[in-house]
Amino acid sequence: MAHTTAPVEEKDLPDARIIDGKLFAERLREDIAAAVTNLESEHGLRPRLDVVMVGDNPASRIYVRNKRWQTELAGMDSVEHRLPGNVPESDLLALIGRLNDDSAVNGILVQLPLPSHIDEHKVITAISPEKDVDGFHVVNVGRLWIGADTRVPCTPYGCLLLLRDVLGDLKGKRALVLGRSNIVGKPMAALLLAEHCTVTIAHSKTEDLPARCREAEILVAAVGRAELVRGDWIKPGATVIDVGINRVRAPDRGAHQDGSPRSRLVGDVAFDEARRVAGAITPVPGGVGPMTIACLLRNTLIAAVRQNGLPEPAV
Ligand code: NDP
Repeated sequence: MAHTTAPVEEKDLPDARIIDGKLFAERLREDIAAAVTNLESEHGLRPRLDVVMVGDNPASRIYVRNKRWQTELAGMDSVEHRLPGNVPESDLLALIGRLNDDSAVNGILVQLPLPSHIDEHKVITAISPEKDVDGFHVVNVGRLWIGADTRVPCTPYGCLLLLRDVLGDLKGKRALVLGRSNIVGKPMAALLLAEHCTVTIAHSKTEDLPARCREAEILVAAVGRAELVRGDWIKPGATVIDVGINRVRAPDRGAHQDGSPRSRLVGDVAFDEARRVAGAITPVPGGVGPMTIACLLRNTLIAAVRQNGLPEPAV
């Protein structure tokens, strides 16, 4: 049958809805805090998250501080274990063993990356799957792919919550996940598949990436390449979730006292171009980023109630 309507032109579209991840995460954190208060008053249970940090990576230090602060703000206990950068792998594994055996500990998170002499996979696998609030343990990964109850990695789950909020039912939508990492791309694809989307996973070897992206009604970009996804890669009206966090030079912002240029954070999507084509889009910062820690708090709460055989709160 011949097409009777002209294709939608970019210029005909209103600017995209900007998805406010900061506000969504704030509400989620409030719901979690309320559930934690109930848990403590009704069952005397206060969830506890233990974070293990090895070495002194400045970015990790900021992430760990934020996690601790937000965990406590939600009314949970937070314990930090700092190990020197040259700690033997066996000491780290022994600490994880003790935390696994301690019934007061509900969630264990080992801040990545680890120093190169430590086998990351071995460490993640040492964490009890029930306490693996990052959802990186191979048992939890397997559970996710077979559609069983599991700990879902925080960043992709945050993306899913935003998508559900914007689109409602995702059934039948054509989704493209750009990036195939174990922490974002692959679990994101599994979650979208579980929502009955038709999912494509694209990566650095994908041929004609712009054309593949243009087919997607849902585009999740998690590549770590500043503004790789251009406006004309986006299907008009698509929902775009930008996971990327890239620091780029911003000479227009002037210079630091030492003369070095200031910087700014940008995503994997060229936001100013994309917002003219997409139906909805997350900004960077203020989109996916705030959702990650909120989902970590949620995972810790869920881990605590499950470990104690209590009913799950609706958060
Ligand atoms: P990884 O580096 O582990 O994975 C990047 C993926 O992108 C790989 O699959 C790679 O393909 C693919 N890729 C790289 N370059 C290209 C390209 N030019 N074209 C197509 N595909 C490409 O990154 P992460 O998944 O850990 O993180 C992705 C981004 O998300 C980063 O900017 C990171 O900072 C951010 N992030 C943000 C979080 C948040 O809370 N908002 C949390 C976690 C990450 P291949 O496999 O073929 O090499």
